[in-house]
Amino acid sequence: MSLQDITARIAKAEKSSGRVQGSVRLIAVSKVQPNDRVAAVLDQGHRCFGENRVQEAASKWPDFKQRYSGVDLHLIGPLQTNKARQAMDLCDAIHSVDRPKLANTLARLAQEKGSCPDLFIQVNTGEEDQKAGVLPAEADGFVAECRGLDLPVRGLMCIPPVSEEPALHFALLAKIAARNGLDGLSMGMSSDFETAIALGATHVRVGSAIFGARVKPAE
Ligand SMILES: *Cc1c(COP(=O)(O)O)cnc(C)c1O
Repeated sequence: MSLQDITARIAKAEKSSGRVQGSVRLIAVSKVQPNDRVAAVLDQGHRCFGENRVQEAASKWPDFKQRYSGVDLHLIGPLQTNKARQAMDLCDAIHSVDRPKLANTLARLAQEKGSCPDLFIQVNTGEEDQKAGVLPAEADGFVAECRGLDLPVRGLMCIPPVSEEPALHFALLAKIAARNGLDGLSMGMSSDFETAIALGATHVRVGSAIFGARVKPAE
């Protein structure tokens, strides 16, 4: 696969599911990829990338941002409150807002900075113990709490359990977003982004299908 193949598949999925052409944003997930592979995708003109660790993002993106203009960087992995400031300075969007303590920290820093990245609330749709995210039953309350803090909540994000049909999880996320008046849906990865698009994804997070297998596991 290549960037071109993936953008073509996204366009096809938009068309076949009656979505507006260009309405789905491709986040190229560059975590753990060698810099030359990332540079190759930047050279092809792509500018929207995802990282799952603040530290890794901080070690490679300031450099790339100097060399390429218009980079749009999304944090898609768990965020510790003590890294929130760094994440806000570095990233244009954070997809892993998942608890009141983090929301409070982001709100305080946003006040201080006078700006805040776009935020997505992570929902643990599979109710898995080891996975981050608010439980589906707590999502409405947490969205309201974040809005009460004046945080720019743009949408919801989920990572379905590996062994389950992702469509059920995407549909659940879409339902929670709709009843909360949220447009953004960050869902779909290399193996299931077309299904996610059919169910309303606005942001798909695709790593290995663009860059090739990750050199070492990122989890
Ligand atoms: C790594 C990662 C992805 C991309 O996974 P692929 O299967 O390589 O497309 C998407 N979302 C999150 C949260 C990730 O950590």
